[in-house]
Amino acid sequence: MSQYPKSPMMGQMMSQPLLISTIIQFADRNFADTEIVSRRAEGDIHRYTYRDCHKRARQMANALSNLGVKMGDRVATLAWNGYRHLELYYAISGSGAVMHTINPRLHPDQIAYIVNHAEDQYLFFDITFLPLVEGFAAQCKATKGFVMMCGRDRMPAESKIPNLMCYEDLVEQSSDQYEWPLFDENSASSLCYTSGTTGNPKGVLYSHRSTLLHSFSALMPDAITFSSRDVVVPVVPMFHVNAWGLPYSAPMTGAKLVFPGPALDGKSLYELFEQEQVTYAAGVPTIWLGLLNHVGQNNLKFSSFKRTIIGGSTCPPAMMKTFQQQYNVEVVHGWGMTELSPLGAACTLQRKHLNLPEEQKQAILERQGRAIFGIDMKIVDDAGLELPWDGKTFGNLLVKGSWVVSSYFRSDSGDVLQDGWFPTGDVATITADGYMQITDRSKDVIKSGGEWIGSIDLENIAMAHPAVQQVACIGVSHPKWDERPLLVVVKKPGADVSKEELIKFYDGKIAKWWTPDDVTFVEALPIGATGKILKNKIREQFHDYKLPTA
Ligand code: ADP
Repeated sequence: MSQYPKSPMMGQMMSQPLLISTIIQFADRNFADTEIVSRRAEGDIHRYTYRDCHKRARQMANALSNLGVKMGDRVATLAWNGYRHLELYYAISGSGAVMHTINPRLHPDQIAYIVNHAEDQYLFFDITFLPLVEGFAAQCKATKGFVMMCGRDRMPAESKIPNLMCYEDLVEQSSDQYEWPLFDENSASSLCYTSGTTGNPKGVLYSHRSTLLHSFSALMPDAITFSSRDVVVPVVPMFHVNAWGLPYSAPMTGAKLVFPGPALDGKSLYELFEQEQVTYAAGVPTIWLGLLNHVGQNNLKFSSFKRTIIGGSTCPPAMMKTFQQQYNVEVVHGWGMTELSPLGAACTLQRKHLNLPEEQKQAILERQGRAIFGIDMKIVDDAGLELPWDGKTFGNLLVKGSWVVSSYFRSDSGDVLQDGWFPTGDVATITADGYMQITDRSKDVIKSGGEWIGSIDLENIAMAHPAVQQVACIGVSHPKWDERPLLVVVKKPGADVSKEELIKFYDGKIAKWWTPDDVTFVEALPIGATGKILKNKIREQFHDYKLPTA
């Protein structure tokens, strides 16, 4: 596989392939009785241990083999975060097949497209998704069977789904005598499609090697950082970029794992956090908004929650402050994407920053952060020329590393790299110390009078206003300036603010010409399949909007 020359003097160390199965074997031997707790799609709480998980993963690996699943075959899941989903992560990848996680929030036609494109041999799904699967199962041409992730008692008496099987039957009928096979670490382990907000979703095919290297690096103290003393909740879904790798990194460290299942509202999360004494969680800002609202409105406190990694979209500085100042929860801002497994950067202070005034420290922490070891970054202009790391110049962000995609699965687009670098589609600045800050998706940049206005900065300021719950800033066409910023705002329940007050709120916080030209209030913003605000939808909606300055 390696395209690099061999030295006449090769190292004399064991050559053990980096395989996903080694993680669950390690957790079983070293953290046998550490708990995995799941709120199930059935509604109740389930508990068992890493040892139990390993045993059932071996049973499921035998079941897959009995179903005729071979190395390289794709096996799909449509499931919430839970212990059965974790068993599949290990049973499928560990046996050499490819774990294809599907985002249930996609349109059913898109799901059917993905299943056919990947030629999934089997599809496993949580009981919640029975009607969804019934809707598209007939379109899945290569799929030999469907497995509902429940016990016999929850199986439907009849269903339109061909060859519908029961998960617990498969486990019970299979032996736990199973030797995880050894194979090339570059073999495909899992497959995740991008959300496809524009066009059809594209498949990113991870390898065992890339997955293990990503987990090692992401676990470093300046990035995801947790240990065997932590209780960890991946709130970020296992159906989207492997829940940021937590299903691998938690068993690597021996942390207790807690899965929230489908109950992602503030109240359910808060109760689970308290009941299980959660210390660490990973999630996107929209989910944390719900949790913070619940905690704030009910005058609650967290008794054990200490640290969270927030990414997927910009963590508004106001949210970071609330977590830190009001609840003593440390926030690590992280940046990544499906194409990066996903983690590329995380934000923590260096030793030299420790004595800076609070405000300066805060300004550093609000950035998306420094590359984690194994990832290299650069910013370039439209001609591909590298731009300076001065914290001001912004350009297209390019990355490379051992867990970055090189080409999409079964795609005609071929190599997607530019001179060996992956173009992220993000626009960013980088400081001399390597702290990267996303100013925008390149598609979302507002082009005003030949200059760029970063919509994220404008949103962050509005989010600091006490009456603002959510905001999106988009460019609207303007006869003189080409585009000007419009703020689309959802107010907090019971709070009020006027257009003029919000515009005034920008005074002194930003270059005058960046100030939004107008504000419009809406009941809700469209949210996509991965919990992000869909700016393209908002742009469509306000396509003909007339700015008062036009
Ligand atoms: P993920 O689930 O990791 O967010 P996606 O592939 O769905 O992966 O989306 C990746 C994109 O999300 C990035 O290219 C970037 O535009 C945006 N993104 C991710 N993290 C952040 C962040 N911390 N701040 C701003 N944008 C972010």
